[in-house]
Amino acid sequence: MVISHSVGFPRIGANREMKKAVEAYWKGQTSQEELIKAGRKIRETNWQTQANAGLDLVSVGDFAWYDHILNWSATLGVVPPRFKVQGAETDLDTIFRMGRGRAPVGESTAACEMTKWFDTNYHYITPEVQAKQQFAFSYHAIIDETREALNAGYQVKPIIPGPMTYLWLAKSKTEDFNKLSLLGNLLEVYLEVLQKLQSLGVEWVQLDEPILCLDLPSVWKAQFVLAYEKLKIEGLKVMIATYFGKLEDNLETALDLSVEGVHVDAIRGQSELKVIAEKVSPDKVLSVGIVNGRNIWKNDLNSSLATLKEVQNLHKGQLWISSSCSLLHSPVDLDSEKKLDDEIKSWLAFAKQKCVEIASLAKKLKGDSSQQVEQVFQENAQAIQSRKHSSRVHKDSVKQRVSQIDESMFTRKSDYAVRAEVQKQALNLPEFPTTTLGSFPQTAEIRKQRRAFKDHKISEADYAHFMKKEIQLVVQKQEGYDLDVLVHGEPERNDMVEYFGELLDGFAFTQYGWVQSYGSRCVKPPIIYGDVQRPNPMTTEWSKYAQSLTKRPMKGMLTGALTILCWSFPRDDMERSEICMQIALALRDEVQDLEKSEITVIQIDEPAFREGLPLRKSDWQSYLDWAVKSFRLSASVVEDSTQIHTHMCYSEFNDVIESIAAMDADVITIETSRSDMELLDAFEHFSYPNEIGPGVYDIHSPNVPTVQWMVDLMRKAASRVPAKRLWVNPDCGLKTRGWEETDAALVNMVDAAKQLRQEGLV
Ligand code: GLN
Ligand code: ZN
Repeated sequence: MVISHSVGFPRIGANREMKKAVEAYWKGQTSQEELIKAGRKIRETNWQTQANAGLDLVSVGDFAWYDHILNWSATLGVVPPRFKVQGAETDLDTIFRMGRGRAPVGESTAACEMTKWFDTNYHYITPEVQAKQQFAFSYHAIIDETREALNAGYQVKPIIPGPMTYLWLAKSKTEDFNKLSLLGNLLEVYLEVLQKLQSLGVEWVQLDEPILCLDLPSVWKAQFVLAYEKLKIEGLKVMIATYFGKLEDNLETALDLSVEGVHVDAIRGQSELKVIAEKVSPDKVLSVGIVNGRNIWKNDLNSSLATLKEVQNLHKGQLWISSSCSLLHSPVDLDSEKKLDDEIKSWLAFAKQKCVEIASLAKKLKGDSSQQVEQVFQENAQAIQSRKHSSRVHKDSVKQRVSQIDESMFTRKSDYAVRAEVQKQALNLPEFPTTTLGSFPQTAEIRKQRRAFKDHKISEADYAHFMKKEIQLVVQKQEGYDLDVLVHGEPERNDMVEYFGELLDGFAFTQYGWVQSYGSRCVKPPIIYGDVQRPNPMTTEWSKYAQSLTKRPMKGMLTGALTILCWSFPRDDMERSEICMQIALALRDEVQDLEKSEITVIQIDEPAFREGLPLRKSDWQSYLDWAVKSFRLSASVVEDSTQIHTHMCYSEFNDVIESIAAMDADVITIETSRSDMELLDAFEHFSYPNEIGPGVYDIHSPNVPTVQWMVDLMRKAASRVPAKRLWVNPDCGLKTRGWEETDAALVNMVDAAKQLRQEGLV
């Protein structure tokens, strides 16, 4: 028997119902009751979608109002005391406080840390544990939702984060201890939850253990085995889900765990699929994740079918067919797209369509030759062919330009030391120069105007007039705060990647292709379907205009090639490195045009630099090489006097600091405030050679930082980096903030810089 299932379904809803419901609740516009009702509806729709697609099992536990790891922390009672209401139970509001950094009384407290989910652009709330952490079953959504699905008549497979992965992701804010010491007590709560699920009549539960695709210390491997020996409930079967890579040295561990099934990522782990099929015991279920959960391309069904048949020959036990990983990373429903070009649309599959692919593969494998299945296969074969040969995909001139890149194009005219002197003369900035990272609050009015222009409801002239007014406002404001290097505020940009994608050839856009990024925030990644080139300058007009309004330097603002690549859905018929070089060349032309327009400071954002890092150390160097090269290719075209900035956020840099230095930006601004400058620990062993602006306040929270707080953080920074190479800035763009808090925060920030100048740290 072949069973079809997904490793998880997106929770946002085809129309971002989740976002709308939760934000209305946060604003106090709706009651908790209404919120709960909205959640039930989203889940019901998701189950229906999976069942209609023909999947044998529907997933439960993949729904969350903020983040599934945060939900799980609440379930396990991992709630730091600062979020607790004395004597009250852990509820939805507790979860929101943890995600959003709110105290039960008073307004604010430090939010829990947020971390990128493996190498995706999803962010989870880091579980905060202590050495004496006690776990207790404290929040029951997983049980309630399972019951909900069962009552609605579905075949249900609850999904929960596996104990090893959960512990691996957990962090202590204050102490260093062996997290594995918590495992015993943790497993007790798992057993309690599993027992409850079993007693509801659940047959299979999926425990996600993606860390089996990481480099694991041997003691973790050993504990893996022990943990799963303990996690046994009579009558309940466990499917371990591994994804995001190959198992490699964890292969034996994963296959030998005392569980009833193992799921593998057959996209990234394609090369070891046969070995796995041979090795896995015939009394175990092998779930093959053959439909890519991380892209939007149609699966080549015939080729997948061939692979699955091979697997079937090698593995004598039961076979399940699935997505490589959760479909959380894919948009919800291609059918919603009404404006997408027909040809391109025919090449795509979103979560709902991927479920049909999974189900169709399973049916075909079972020998189903109904017309319905045949038709799916036929249409699929046509689409695969059309994409392979389309002239919209392949442009010789672009491929040729990439092949002609030579070494000299990767290097600035002089070294940093020389450039720094030239720039000092040219820019004449004070010590501890202040700046922001690009965007200013994007008000409802700004969004309305952008939309109106997009929908052809206002003229280009009216649109430009409005945007220029906005630019005037932010320039005036920045002069008022007395910032040193200004920005134009990016009012014309909906999103830092989409904006550039729309102006480049080779990109396509969806109307509803949203993917959750963190909490209620979603992104709509562009689709890179073909060779990339820049038909026209993209930012120079706005930057020139902004510069004309002030004597202070105006930063040009670009999104780096790597980030554009990482935050798009890339084509899967070309190496990532090559796509990246194509984009980098287009940006190089833009950098040159900005310089020609007398923009003397240019920031190239690369917030995705670390996220692009492969999960396995052995793959790092080759990635870092081309990642750094792509940045240098874009940046190195300028004169010494032009100052190149880069910006990165939400990352741990310690392990890539040398590559970041190798990017050779004159100034880097980075995220640090949420982690109390922890990030700067990297500099104890490596002295970053150029200038650096460690973000002094967390723009992801509405809290206004005090002058003292920022001065203290900068002092900390000055103890690690020579003060004369420090900048003062927030840790990211301000577009999600309101004006009131932005005004207050930036006034304080400039005050902090002035105080630092007086202290004579330099
Ligand atoms: N320049 C961008 C902005 O300010 C940077 C955003 C980011 O790094 N994510 O919005
Ligand atoms: Zn940022």
